[in-house]
Amino acid sequence: MRNFLAVILACLPAAGAGLAVAAQQAESPARIFIDGGMLIDGSGSEPEENPGILIEGERIRSLSSDAASEPGTEVISADGKWVLPGLFDLHVHVTFMLDGPRRLDDDIVNAIRSERFLERYQEIGVTTVRDVGAREWIGYSLKRTQRAGLMGGARYYTSGPIITVTGGHGSEFQPLHPPLWAVEADGPWELRERVREAIKLEADLIKVAPFLTQEEMAAVVDEAHIYHLRVTAHIGGTHDLDKQSGRIAVEAGVDSTEHMYPYGGPDVIKAMVEKGIYVIPTLGFHLRELNDEYAANAEKQSAGWLSENLGHTYETMMAQFREMKAAGVRFAVGTDSNVKDLETIDKLYLQELQAFRTAGMNNGEIIQAATLRAAEAMGLDDELGSITAGKRADLILLSADPLQDISALVYPELVIQDGKVVCCGQRR
Ligand SMILES: [Zn+2]
Repeated sequence: MRNFLAVILACLPAAGAGLAVAAQQAESPARIFIDGGMLIDGSGSEPEENPGILIEGERIRSLSSDAASEPGTEVISADGKWVLPGLFDLHVHVTFMLDGPRRLDDDIVNAIRSERFLERYQEIGVTTVRDVGAREWIGYSLKRTQRAGLMGGARYYTSGPIITVTGGHGSEFQPLHPPLWAVEADGPWELRERVREAIKLEADLIKVAPFLTQEEMAAVVDEAHIYHLRVTAHIGGTHDLDKQSGRIAVEAGVDSTEHMYPYGGPDVIKAMVEKGIYVIPTLGFHLRELNDEYAANAEKQSAGWLSENLGHTYETMMAQFREMKAAGVRFAVGTDSNVKDLETIDKLYLQELQAFRTAGMNNGEIIQAATLRAAEAMGLDDELGSITAGKRADLILLSADPLQDISALVYPELVIQDGKVVCCGQRR
């Protein structure tokens, strides 16, 4: 008994000291100072040498080269490196297995693999992803798990399943077990109900896919906006009505649009500029499609069918991108990745950036599309998208200049998300 008491007593001061340390840590969050380096801050302004970025807790506290001397600050040298905001991918499907062994697609395997996918994103410097079509409840569960601090990876936002009409886009993947990828509804009030369900399940945005009528699309946008949720619309597709989907979505006032199928002409593009609608062109997806990568899944996704029936070719796609850019449309980066891209997401992301370049953007504009423009498109630019005092501390350190070589973007030396080093050295 005496020994037992002695052990307890011996432990007490140590435990007390431990509590004191914990309390102290709670009062003063971890500080990291990025010393040196060339800042490309995401806003499109000129690069700045040695900005002196002080991170405190989860946020950027200040940009000032003399902040390093504050006690308890960890200094990371960025000499000879480039510092940028964490990147975005606004069109992902981390839960979606387009093709592959079905036995590897039950809910548990799917969720575990999705977490790995989000970690892979961090490894290429992408710290925020927007999932615009997630399987059943899994997208919502991933988000809740991550927000509760139980799961890592790039910051995950989700629309949950796509909202469409009966037989609309997204439902072709679920002939036997609806709803898997898309929830189907018809008429304005049924569609409003689907939007309300998504809101109840804590969707971050609404993803809608054609072919909705004007009345139906207006109902979706109106309902989502009542709850301050953004709507992004898949444009184009293989149904006759899909050809009108650009015009219908823009008329209804969606917040952003996905893909680069024909939108409907100059008056639609003009209206997009006036309404400030962002475009996630997914050029890399179209390159794959026009290369007949998906033709085995559906005849209507062959390059020949798309050209003949939708007037969608490489040339028309690039011409429309240039027309939009010249008109003042704002673009953001999205890859349309799915499970098969998990290990090669660096190449897919880079393909998207290179396609932007081929279409006429310079590297500075591409970096903006991958950072601040993307944050704006999500309505998160108060919090993310640039290296600005007060914003969340998502940063990447590169060993080469991305203004010279855009491929430098996806091979970061160091990734910081919410003020923590998450890649590529020792995880903390
Ligand atoms: Zn997609």
